[in-house]
Amino acid sequence: MALEFTLVLQLHAPLALHRTRTGVQFVETLDIIPGTALRGALAEAYLTKHGAPDGTFRALFLSDQVQYGDLWPALEGKQTTLLPATAQVCKRYGLKHPASFRDALLDVWADSGDDKKCRECGESLDRVGGYLCSLNPLEPLSPRSRLRVSTAIERSTGTVAREMLFTQHTLVGLGTPDDKQPLLFQGVVRLFDPTLQSELMRLLQSNTILFLGAGRSRGLGQMKVKAWSEASAPEPLAERWNQFNAAAQRAGGDASKRYFSLTLLSHLALRDNLLRPMQGEITPQHFGLPEGVTWVRYSDSDQSVLFLNAITVPGWNTALGLPKSDTVALARGSVLLGQCDAGQEQAVLGCLAQIEAEGVGERRNEGFGRVAVCYPIHYTCWR
Ligand SMILES: [Zn+2]
Repeated sequence: MALEFTLVLQLHAPLALHRTRTGVQFVETLDIIPGTALRGALAEAYLTKHGAPDGTFRALFLSDQVQYGDLWPALEGKQTTLLPATAQVCKRYGLKHPASFRDALLDVWADSGDDKKCRECGESLDRVGGYLCSLNPLEPLSPRSRLRVSTAIERSTGTVAREMLFTQHTLVGLGTPDDKQPLLFQGVVRLFDPTLQSELMRLLQSNTILFLGAGRSRGLGQMKVKAWSEASAPEPLAERWNQFNAAAQRAGGDASKRYFSLTLLSHLALRDNLLRPMQGEITPQHFGLPEGVTWVRYSDSDQSVLFLNAITVPGWNTALGLPKSDTVALARGSVLLGQCDAGQEQAVLGCLAQIEAEGVGERRNEGFGRVAVCYPIHYTCWR
């Protein structure tokens, strides 16, 4: 069993984490800190402190003994929920019409002609992404970004490049009226080797400044360590499974089947036997689930119930100053709906617990492949 720690960072200076390579004039920022960036910042902090890479460095940053999860925007004392690809809200007013908010995953057995409308204005619904900091009452969480115009820096000389300007988005705080709350980023680091715990704790002492993202020569990307503590246990899987299945029965599911959702909390990079990236042809067995487990299919077509978004993740190797090769992945927020016979319940639950505890696919030590089984939003917000 891995040890799980919650890491909380606080914005100390505006943060620019580029969504794409900086070959374009307008550079957007990510609204999370990817595990890749966190791992890089900690590796840099370690080298500043200890000098050359040693055995501990390799165990911490180059092995599979530590998984650095993505850090999501968060508010103090609140649990951030990722809006999955199945979330819907009023097309015209968005989350300003909170009564329109719902999750559509369990609509699979519903009559496809039965279009849902906003309860407040009657407008049709549309997909919505982002984060909530509370499900009940519904509270969106939107980091605020600001545009900065900067002069480009010549990489070889470290001085201003002539006649080159670019514009980048930086995260500066929260987009809520109550802006006095500092913007936090929170995520889980998993340790499969407990002896590494003390070493990480030394790197993550309270108020330590970590440097993340772009523009650090301009003072951007300073993050303060706010908390590093043992992660609290989520609602037990068996409990979520029961609630999910109760909702699935109400929605019209088959009483002889058991259902579960897989919601990607981070990007998932899977490859087939020929090392080609997996996309739509993914099966439950790619997740390590036993034979007999299948995706649920829509009754009026042969389509599996998969809400998948593909993404190309660019990378940058700071040590070499060179781009890393792109990773093609299924994007965070994608949702898959699986089923098995009632008799398989215990075996499947065992596999699902392992999927949650260890993750799936490649680059797990950089936060890829985190999966939530029966993510509560699917059964609490379906109606
Ligand atoms: Zn509305």
